[in-house]
Amino acid sequence: GSLAVLDSGVSVCRACPRLVAWREKVAVEKRASFADQPYWGRPIAGWGSTTPRVLIVGLAPAAHGGNRTGRIFTGDRSGDWLFASLHRVGLAVQPTSEHAGDGQQLIDTRMAAAVRCAPPDNKPTIEERDTCAPWLHAEVALVAPHVRAVVALGSYGWDAALRSFRAAGYAAPRPKPKFGHGARAVLTGPDGREVVLLGSYHPSQQNTFTGRLTEEMLDAVLGEAAALR
Ligand code: SF4
Repeated sequence: GSLAVLDSGVSVCRACPRLVAWREKVAVEKRASFADQPYWGRPIAGWGSTTPRVLIVGLAPAAHGGNRTGRIFTGDRSGDWLFASLHRVGLAVQPTSEHAGDGQQLIDTRMAAAVRCAPPDNKPTIEERDTCAPWLHAEVALVAPHVRAVVALGSYGWDAALRSFRAAGYAAPRPKPKFGHGARAVLTGPDGREVVLLGSYHPSQQNTFTGRLTEEMLDAVLGEAAALR
């Protein structure tokens, strides 16, 4: 398999009835608000380098972010925060991510979501999580040989990254490393090579508005990933 084959497969996935209904409902209802733009309303493939040194794992596309623009962390406040930081630490060519044709490019970096369709309230069910997991497993299996650092945004991304790297044959410390902002765990590949898993609070509005996550905190983790690459 290749990333191109994977991307085309995920873009037509309809395996979760509730999420298919939701992503399409939001797309139809909100299309009028963004009438000058196409509204994606489908699953979101991973995006960025095909041989990434840094892999960023988030939860799921936002209803009016990735679900609207077709590109992960694009067109919403979380994306504004994430890309501004990626730009500051040298992993993105522009500080903003507004739409899929904005010229933004990631440097040595790829980003992917644990769940590929926008869920209501940003909360996939356990069944939806498990149904979608093979997409991230497949993506990690393809890119893992290049990856030196994984940045998990939030505990959901942390657990998903651990599961996908385990599925790709990487050993994680026991007991399971605990998520936190600045958490760090070394995963050891089948060939003995090491990948560093880093935790960051998710740049959700809930975290950034309240000051739970500051720009400095996000820059510290993404800067560490940039230095490891
Ligand atoms: Fe398919 Fe994942 Fe979307 Fe479910 S969430 S429909 S498994 S792409």
